[in-house]
Amino acid sequence: MVIGAAARVAITGCRKLVSSHSSLLVSSHCRHMSMDAGSVSEKLRNSGLLRTQGLIGGKWLDSYDKKTIKVYNPATGEIIADVACMGVRETNDAIASSYEAFTSWSRLTAGERSKVLRRWYDLLIAHKEELGQLITLEQGKPLKEAIGEVGYGASFIEYYAEEAKRVYGDIIPPNLSDRRLLVLKQPIGVVGAITPWNFPLAMITRKVGPALASGCTVVVKPSELTPLTALAAAELALQAGVPPGALNVVMGNAPEIGDALLTSPQVRKITFTGSTAVGKKLMAAAAPTVKKVSLELGGNAPSIVFNDADLDVAVKGTLAAKFRNSGQTCVCANRVLVQDGIYDKFAEAFSEAVQKLEVGDGFKEGSTQGPLINDAAVQKVESFVQDAVSKGAKIILGGKRHSLGMTFYEPTVIRDVSDNMIMSKEEIFGPVAPLIRFKTEEDAIRIANDTIAGLAAYIFTNSVQRSWRVFEALEYGLVGVNEGIISTEVAPFGGVKQSGLGREGSKYGMDEYLEIKYVCLGDMNRH
Ligand code: ADP
Repeated sequence: MVIGAAARVAITGCRKLVSSHSSLLVSSHCRHMSMDAGSVSEKLRNSGLLRTQGLIGGKWLDSYDKKTIKVYNPATGEIIADVACMGVRETNDAIASSYEAFTSWSRLTAGERSKVLRRWYDLLIAHKEELGQLITLEQGKPLKEAIGEVGYGASFIEYYAEEAKRVYGDIIPPNLSDRRLLVLKQPIGVVGAITPWNFPLAMITRKVGPALASGCTVVVKPSELTPLTALAAAELALQAGVPPGALNVVMGNAPEIGDALLTSPQVRKITFTGSTAVGKKLMAAAAPTVKKVSLELGGNAPSIVFNDADLDVAVKGTLAAKFRNSGQTCVCANRVLVQDGIYDKFAEAFSEAVQKLEVGDGFKEGSTQGPLINDAAVQKVESFVQDAVSKGAKIILGGKRHSLGMTFYEPTVIRDVSDNMIMSKEEIFGPVAPLIRFKTEEDAIRIANDTIAGLAAYIFTNSVQRSWRVFEALEYGLVGVNEGIISTEVAPFGGVKQSGLGREGSKYGMDEYLEIKYVCLGDMNRH
């Protein structure tokens, strides 16, 4: 990666509306301040939140062979920090400490665990700004969106602090009169959590929250591209009273760490968010020790705009669903299916809205589109666009790297996209919106379901009857009706087909960390 000069950015704070549609792209107050990435990391270093060692058994440790890896700011190419590059040995020690901690952590009352989680939530919120700055530094998303992620990420800790107290069992009417039948729900044990770079905090909290709440202990492996937010969150967990070993963080050699987690019989569950290819490997590798597996994999989300949609709502919803995090989320609209009768009007209004997006350094006031995570991501987007154009699609807006350089890419709208183009089959993971034309409701459902993925889908229509017909027919785990941002800690998030297994968030998310135990009490008629 290119090491560029520091991007000094003046932030002349104001109250500015980025999008009325999304809690993650919301208007907010910002202070008058001038920032550059260097001074932000200096300030964070002094705050004790910029950690570079792994966390094993409650201790901050270098890798045993002192190897490090560099963490870069994707907006400038500058090195932010050198962090410990860990592997098998460190991971095995982390697993051992989690295994030991499980006995005492799982025996606490739910109320005691709940208090610790609540304190962690309070600390995450108290450090919202610093955590947001860390996310922008290492991931690139605009600061307001990053601070939005901190609120969203922290909400899982708050929610599961509450939910910890509601893990109920059952009493079953017995099949024989001298028996009593009980069902207990108990924590599964040590959990390995492997997370990606696009939500450096939230993808961790929505795994660790329910895991700790239920009494499990965890070894987290954050993405090597964005470990700093994970380490800062872990520091706050320690301050909140999460005991040594209940939460470990190791990062470095991903396949080595993954292998150690997968082969250990002490690790009883793997929870993963990331690419479908890696998810399949992990699922196969979990087989020899028969681990429980939760997978949150890639999507190919359709955003379906019907003739009877409210144009304004469809434009705002699709814009939010497509361009959040510069298109780098697994629920981002990947294909915009637009019905014949509204196609041209929508293409025009949508392009106008996209044109207003501001590309820039995440620390620059007003930026709504940060850089892509690295050059490989830009090259992928470029190749998808080239493929579509070579097969007859037309670029309405954008279609190339942004003049800011680095990994900035112009927000792009492409029309006349068809199903033989790569971008209608695979996740773009960038700021490119392909418009696909359809004729009938049946066509829309067929095209939308014609994919191996099944995570999020969006539909825009003013007909209640149509919305029911369509959301019932869509083979997706999440459906937004006249709404482009639907993730929340109180609702279940997860995919069908090859988008994954299991759900995160909500009461359903707790079940992923619990085992059901049936107990039969016999000889109960004796006096
Ligand atoms: P993305 O395309 O989002 O980077 P990946 O699936 O490559 O998705 O990465 C998601 C997470 O999986 C990251 O933490 C990464 O380091 C980790 N990872 C990648 N390969 C492996 C592997 N072979 N074993 C375990 N973890 C892996």
